[in-house]
Amino acid sequence: MKSKSFDIIILGGGVGSTLLSISLLKKSPKFKILIIEKAAEFPNKLGESTSDITALFLRRLGIDHILKDHVKKTGLRFLYNETNGDNLNDVSEFSSPTFPGPNNGFQFNRKVLDEQLIQEAEKLGATIMRPAEIESHDFKPYHVKLKIKTQSSVEEVESKWFVDASGRSRFIHNALQWDDVKTVLSTSAIYAHFSNSAEVSDWNIPEHQYWTDYAVGHGSESTIHFMKDFGWWWLIKIDDEKYSIGFVYDNEDLSIENPKEYFLEQIKTDHQLSSIVGKAKHSEPILIKDVPYQTKDFVKDGIILLGDSAAFVDPMVSPGIEMICQQIANLKDLLYTDVIEQKPQPKKWSKYNKRFSKGYADRMEIYKKGYNYMGSYELHSNWLQAGLFAYFGLFVFSAYMTRNRIKKPLTINFIDRIGFNFFIWRLNKIKRKRMKQNRLSNHKPSAVTYSGFSYPKGMLIYGIPLKMFFKFIGRYLKLEAKEFKFLFKKK
Ligand SMILES: Cc1cc2nc3c(=O)[nH]c(=O)nc-3n(C[C@H](O)[C@H](O)[C@H](O)COP(=O)(O)OP(=O)(O)OC[C@H]3O[C@@H](n4cnc5c(N)ncnc54)[C@H](O)[C@@H]3O)c2cc1C
Repeated sequence: MKSKSFDIIILGGGVGSTLLSISLLKKSPKFKILIIEKAAEFPNKLGESTSDITALFLRRLGIDHILKDHVKKTGLRFLYNETNGDNLNDVSEFSSPTFPGPNNGFQFNRKVLDEQLIQEAEKLGATIMRPAEIESHDFKPYHVKLKIKTQSSVEEVESKWFVDASGRSRFIHNALQWDDVKTVLSTSAIYAHFSNSAEVSDWNIPEHQYWTDYAVGHGSESTIHFMKDFGWWWLIKIDDEKYSIGFVYDNEDLSIENPKEYFLEQIKTDHQLSSIVGKAKHSEPILIKDVPYQTKDFVKDGIILLGDSAAFVDPMVSPGIEMICQQIANLKDLLYTDVIEQKPQPKKWSKYNKRFSKGYADRMEIYKKGYNYMGSYELHSNWLQAGLFAYFGLFVFSAYMTRNRIKKPLTINFIDRIGFNFFIWRLNKIKRKRMKQNRLSNHKPSAVTYSGFSYPKGMLIYGIPLKMFFKFIGRYLKLEAKEFKFLFKKK
């Protein structure tokens, strides 16, 4: 059997695989890429809401003809119903509407998006084998030989580079026993898709003038989070008919005997969720145990682990596809230099490995802390505001201004760590005190506060980091002032 030779073989045809292929082929049509995808038709998938970095990456990729078919994400909303009241006036909200700007994001029906992206990769020159699976493999350093079984034949293919983009089925981790590192975060998730639900826009949520006046669309088309003591729910409109709803919880805080039953029961009894999807039809709920994990090596001997085959942190504020886009921003240049320019650069690959090992580990740590304050409006919105200062003020802003900044994931450096540790120490202390004094939820219901992120015009754009910093400090000082006032009152 004569073997077909490629520069890069990619296992899996999901977003990681196709976005990498499109990026490479747009940089140089000389790349010879093979994508092996086992599904004849893509199923419903998670990864439905984009972060600002994902949106920036996708917009720079020049695939507007695909993006235009998807729901425009209008922002982020976090709703806290601390007293479990049945009136929406009992709910407090931390809100981050998306203003018109270069990074406006999307909410995807992934079944549709993945199909569009694989067709785009093929149009640009990638070879697609689908439905197809690996029948046998022979991995040597910088040389892989595979027998691929398609519907009609068995073919032999080989390449220097092998990219595992097989998602959570994690081909290399299982087939070659690549090790994982221990993660500090351990969560589970359950989700389903709902159709024929009430329109969130008809839903009795107070209309905020701020959204109406400035945001790119109605608050109902934002990614909505319902924050509870031991976890959180997402609600994402993914097309004209469907909402995606999911529940994520920390395995250390909550142990559920029958998660699927729990999921449907909670929706029925939660006043806000039941008013939207109480009467809707839904798909069979799917449980994902142990959501976070992380590989020890992101690249070794010509094998690259991309996306979920390597690591995943948590769905909160959508870092999933974002970190895939960041890997691709690096891989595009690294593979170009290696394959097209034929210049090996071992030091840069080693730097890539370290960059993402730290990037994922630091995110896990940040998220782990966040689960501590989930259901408390004041504490959790403080954690969010701090995160949004780091994210929007330092990261998104600089990635927007400097093209290559997107390559570096958010990490905690030495100086950040001092501030981070102090802030978390204070939040934990306030939480413990409030719990002891039975005043964990002591804010006025129906409060709405805003993250303050927007893209101002002209030179004012340089003010973003400062504005986000003051927003964070302002919110934090307000919390401290409240604690101080309480002390004073007691005396
Ligand atoms: C609860 C939860 C919520 C999430 N929400 C978000 C979100 O809102 N936003 C966000 O950005 N991310 C989110 N994510 C993460 C996001 O879903 C993933 O990061 C992303 O879809 C991973 O893309 P991928 O290309 O690595 O894998 P996938 O998209 O899963 O693609 C893998 C592909 O490989 C194929 N495949 C698998 N094994 C083989 C094989 N042996 N041979 C051939 N083909 C194979 C599969 O059929 C599939 O098409 C969420 C994740 C979870 C768990």
